[in-house]
Amino acid sequence: LIAFLLYLFYLVAPIGQLVQGFTQVQNGLAAVKRIREIEELPGEETTVAVHRVGRTPAGVVFEKVAFRYGDDRPVIHDGVSFEVPAGGLTALVGPSGAGKSTVFALLERFYDHQGGTIAVDGRDIRDWPLAELRACLGYVEQDAPVLDGTLRENLVFAAPDAAEDDIARVLTRTRLEDLVARLPEGLDTRVGHRGIMLSGGERQRVAIARALLRSPRLLLLDEATSQLDAVNELRLREVVAEVAKETTVLVIAHRLSTVTGADRIVVMEAGRVRAVGTHEELLADDTLYRELAATQFLLPA
Ligand code: ATP
Repeated sequence: LIAFLLYLFYLVAPIGQLVQGFTQVQNGLAAVKRIREIEELPGEETTVAVHRVGRTPAGVVFEKVAFRYGDDRPVIHDGVSFEVPAGGLTALVGPSGAGKSTVFALLERFYDHQGGTIAVDGRDIRDWPLAELRACLGYVEQDAPVLDGTLRENLVFAAPDAAEDDIARVLTRTRLEDLVARLPEGLDTRVGHRGIMLSGGERQRVAIARALLRSPRLLLLDEATSQLDAVNELRLREVVAEVAKETTVLVIAHRLSTVTGADRIVVMEAGRVRAVGTHEELLADDTLYRELAATQFLLPA
């Protein structure tokens, strides 16, 4: 009970800061998304920032994990096992309801799994201090909101100690330099609700840049579902590939085109892992993957 109350306190305490500091956050964020934003607020985790430089990529192991949200049916069945090697790009794909977002929620310990083990960097996530675990993870949500403020504020609010060099570096990594050059006041241009509206692709890259400023050892990326034009789609693919050279990236991919070059693709269906492989291996071996590819015009139906 005490652990539960402490956990609640951990989640609820920063809500006051969120409400005070960012009253103009765009409407319509689901409660869980707000909680996730809290993880990026400056606070206790900034102490971890001091040690950011040179942080090594972290791998993940799911071993026979079982999970149900309430007393309902299991959402992760039969003990799900898969590995995300440290460094490189691993993708989760599968139909709606397969359990991909649940994998992220378990990794971030928004919920605790009931069976099996989840390890990050070889250490059971239940043995990690929660703040340390979350400081090690970067999370980029689907269709990430842009706060009403300058582009700079949008980038640094989770990493207020970021130096100009750090900002310049992540702008290059996320191919946002063109956007900055185009904005009338560059980084100090107001964007979001009352400022210049950014496209879906730009918003997601801003969210990636924000996450990178915290130097995550593992980046969890829930790919944007909003339609991206061809240029933005290509840019996102390039950015993901480049970020995967410096840290571990686990992406929930809604478009297979983003992950054809992934080192490893985990195909989930109805709470189970049904196949793991590269794009080519899965095209050859897995009927569901072939169907997903066919519906997305990568293959003749
Ligand atoms: P999508 O691509 O549509 O986001 P997904 O593969 O990410 O799907 P999940 O969101 O992980 O799938 O959902 C897996 C199952 O768990 C679904 O049946 C969903 O209805 C259920 N579920 C998800 N979140 C909750 C929750 N907070 N409480 C109860 N059930 C949930």
